[in-house]
Amino acid sequence: MTKLNKNDLEHFKSLINEEREKLLDKLGYLRETAMETTVKDASGDHSSYSFHMADQGTDAQEREKAFLFASREMQYLERLELALKRIKEGTFGICVKCRKSIARERLEAVPIATMCYTCKTKQK
Ligand SMILES: [Zn+2]
Repeated sequence: MTKLNKNDLEHFKSLINEEREKLLDKLGYLRETAMETTVKDASGDHSSYSFHMADQGTDAQEREKAFLFASREMQYLERLELALKRIKEGTFGICVKCRKSIARERLEAVPIATMCYTCKTKQK
C-alpha cells in the first residue's frame, strides 16, 4: 500500500472542507430554527401564548426533530474536524488500530474513516 502524498492529502483536505462547510450551513439553519422556538416559548407573552396553543404540539415536535438531527450532524462535524487534524498531524489515512494504511478507495468513499476495513469489521 503506497502512502498518501502531499497532493492526495490536499485532495482529501478540500473534500473534507467542502463537506464541513455544507454541514455548517445546515447546522446554522437548524440552530436558528431551534432558537426561534425557544425564544417564543420563553417570551412569557400570554396573549400570544394562547394564540399559539394549537401549534404547540407540532412546534415541540419540530424542535425535537431539529435537535436530534443537529446532534447527529454535530457528531459528523466532529469527525470531519478530526480528519482535518489528522491531515495536519500526518496521521490521516493511517488506521488507528493496526497503524496500516487505509485503502485509498475507502478514504474516497469515507474520508473521515479512522480505521481500515479489516479493523472496522472486527470491531463489531
Ligand atoms: Zn486496521
